[in-house]
Amino acid sequence: MFSTYLVYYMLGIVMIPGIILGIWAQTKVRSSFNQYNKVETKHGKSAKDVARFMLDSGGCVDTQIQPIKGELTDNYNPSTNIVSLSESVYNQTTIAAIGVTAHEIGHVFQHKNGYAPIKIRNVLVPVMNISSFLMWPLIIIGLIMEMSYYVTAANWLIYIGIGLYALNIIFCLVTLPIEINASNRAKKMLLATGEMDTEEIKGVEKVLSAAAWTYVAALVTSILSLLRLLLFVFMMRGGDRN
Ligand SMILES: [Zn+2]
Repeated sequence: MFSTYLVYYMLGIVMIPGIILGIWAQTKVRSSFNQYNKVETKHGKSAKDVARFMLDSGGCVDTQIQPIKGELTDNYNPSTNIVSLSESVYNQTTIAAIGVTAHEIGHVFQHKNGYAPIKIRNVLVPVMNISSFLMWPLIIIGLIMEMSYYVTAANWLIYIGIGLYALNIIFCLVTLPIEINASNRAKKMLLATGEMDTEEIKGVEKVLSAAAWTYVAALVTSILSLLRLLLFVFMMRGGDRN
């Protein structure tokens, strides 16, 4: 049992490129946010006021806006219909703060307009909650059963477990276009409502594209994580047969 864990632990080495990409993306987000959180917009409106204006002009008068603790914790919760803006954004009048805010408003309109990838993700979330409980037990039971006579059943358990694990990749693949689309909506809305000019949008572009890289890193990590699992299963089987 200990050696099994050790094999899985050692295989963590395949995760290193994903981890490095993740750290690089996070650093890029923080540095671009800090850089453009020092640059005031010409309009001078606060993030919460821009958010209210965009929501109202898009017909989302019921959507609420509230401050939330933490840094870069900004999010939209469709079940409560609340846009939460972090304290470093809420009252700010900077290019970074307004850019992040417009991105979250982009998510509101994705839900309002029935944007297809959002629907797919809504289906995936409950499935993934169940699969995250099941995948490891299925794989472990499968590997143990393989030593017995029930080889076919064992194989099926392992394949289903791996299939459930692979759902993580699908989830990341669906999340990526959602995030890029929210950022594109943000830039269009900021220009269309006159909150920013094309020069200021370049700053927003830098902050939001850095944020998109964190989702690319998540996708790469999910693929490497599956590769790690496949290598683990392969090595466990090889070990049994020798
Ligand atoms: Zn987002």
